[in-house]
Amino acid sequence: MRWSQMHIPTLREDPTEADAPSHRLLLRAGYIRQLMAGHYSLLPLAVRVRSKIIDVIREEMNRIGSQEFSLPALHPAEIWRRSGRWDIMGEEMFRLRDRRGADLALGMTHEEIFTTLALELNSYRDLPQMWYQFQTKFRDEPRPKAGLMRTREFTMKDSYSFDLAPEGLDRSFDLHHEAYVRIFSRLGISAIPVEASSGSMGGAASTEFMFPSAVGEDFVVHCAACEYAANTEKATARLEPSTDDEGLAVPERFDTPGVRTIDDLAVRFGAPGDRQVKTLVFVLDDQLTLVLLRGDHVLSEQKLADATGATTLRPAHADEIRAALGASPGSLGAVGVTDLPILADEALRGRRNMFTGANIDDVHLRGVDVDRHISVGTWADLREVAAGEPCVRCGQPLQVQRAIEVGHIFKLGYKYSDALDATVLDPTGARTRVIMGSYGIGVERAMAAIIEGHHDDRGIVWPMPVAPFHVAVVVAQSDNTTVAEAGEQIYQQLLAERVEVIIDDRAERAGVKFRDVELVGIPLRITVGKRTLADGVVEFTDRASGQTDRIPLDQVVEHVR
Ligand code: ATP
Ligand code: MG
Ligand code: MG
Ligand code: MG
Repeated sequence: MRWSQMHIPTLREDPTEADAPSHRLLLRAGYIRQLMAGHYSLLPLAVRVRSKIIDVIREEMNRIGSQEFSLPALHPAEIWRRSGRWDIMGEEMFRLRDRRGADLALGMTHEEIFTTLALELNSYRDLPQMWYQFQTKFRDEPRPKAGLMRTREFTMKDSYSFDLAPEGLDRSFDLHHEAYVRIFSRLGISAIPVEASSGSMGGAASTEFMFPSAVGEDFVVHCAACEYAANTEKATARLEPSTDDEGLAVPERFDTPGVRTIDDLAVRFGAPGDRQVKTLVFVLDDQLTLVLLRGDHVLSEQKLADATGATTLRPAHADEIRAALGASPGSLGAVGVTDLPILADEALRGRRNMFTGANIDDVHLRGVDVDRHISVGTWADLREVAAGEPCVRCGQPLQVQRAIEVGHIFKLGYKYSDALDATVLDPTGARTRVIMGSYGIGVERAMAAIIEGHHDDRGIVWPMPVAPFHVAVVVAQSDNTTVAEAGEQIYQQLLAERVEVIIDDRAERAGVKFRDVELVGIPLRITVGKRTLADGVVEFTDRASGQTDRIPLDQVVEHVR
């Protein structure tokens, strides 16, 4: 490739609309352009990176025995109605109607559609199966953000497993877990697997791959001592409308009209600003529970126990606390973090060392009346509280970190095979339901996450496996025939060796070319210049370290390899 012929519209200045480094650099280095909020055109450099990411993922999927498919992006409503998700997906689903009046949806995930193909699996001998695709997903995100990080249209590698029994699902899930670890390590994303909720996917277990980053929108709690890690959103899912087997079907999360989501709660109580933490303390089933919220994320959720470890309050105490909270019996009250010790003291007067923390496993908010104020603490308060929290497992303090969700794997169980009647004959000849898993990685979000982890003040620093080109040959003086010819010769030699090389043959000053190569993030720059050519050498500059070495002309190829 010749720089002079490629469309790489680099910008001199930082674009003002971009905060996240990956967003800023993707715009500035000429990788993406916005069409409208949440929709980006990928320019040639970005397309090259994207296909490299896809290649890595494809290789690892094939390695675990998964087979590649390609399914439609436009789906009939009918199939989504059968799983119940036509309603559950709400406003996040793009819906449209065709000329015959049929309801359609743009696919935001493909559990239902893949399951229709699994209906052709007949016998236990056909199992297990693992199927995947790279497909555009459409999600009407309320807040598209940070360039490629959260868009309304993105490529997902989604895969689905079909097994005869739970042990089979465990195996498929573990295979994906291992594949994801390899994928993120090859992509240069230091993602940590964390326990997570399965949200609208339904199902039992799920693990998110979280890349700690200041621009992440998720929070993970992490224990450095025992390596316990969980997404704080895990707690939120317990407040979600649920249609699973546990009988938690709650069409409205709270009995209070108009309060269906935690966001509604915040709005209802006028909790200001995104940067603030809301605290919720309530008495429920005679237990005192503390919840810290930030936006719609539950940061911390604790059942408060007394010194003996008991979490159930004696009725008299429960009433006392309710009174202190100013809430009527059976209802929910809330206070600020800083009020909590006072509250505790007042409510349980006369008893000392009353409260210790205990992690709560389940919160049933059914039947709870939200009728009191949520007051507001700050991030610093939260950190203090978090620092003082016991660990879930080992008793050490937990740390709360921002993180980017780069991948997510779910044990779905029987939700979709039940809804769509996917069964096979087992060895005894009886019909049995197949058990499913689903597994996703956002391709363009991965691209953004790589940049978040690999950039400096001069631009992107691509890790080799995803770099759009491995080598840039910079002709320092393109108006000098000797230099231009030497550059061309090196370029041709490298091409012949199948090196992914671009030659910067533009009629620009050397300084401009250096700046662009650094901004765009090409790992190795070979500078062909008048002065060094006279010595029979060229300069190799490593993008990451900035180190420059002089390499004799006849050793260029072997030094690149
Ligand atoms: P988030 O919590 O960030 O909204 P999600 O939990 O809704 O993501 P999943 O349904 O688990 O996402 O989808 C699998 C993967 O697809 C995610 O782990 C992420 O990498 C990617 N992804 C999801 N939503 C988006 C989006 N709006 N833009 C880009 N990538 C996305
Ligand atoms: Mg989402
Ligand atoms: Mg998520
Ligand atoms: Mg997810």
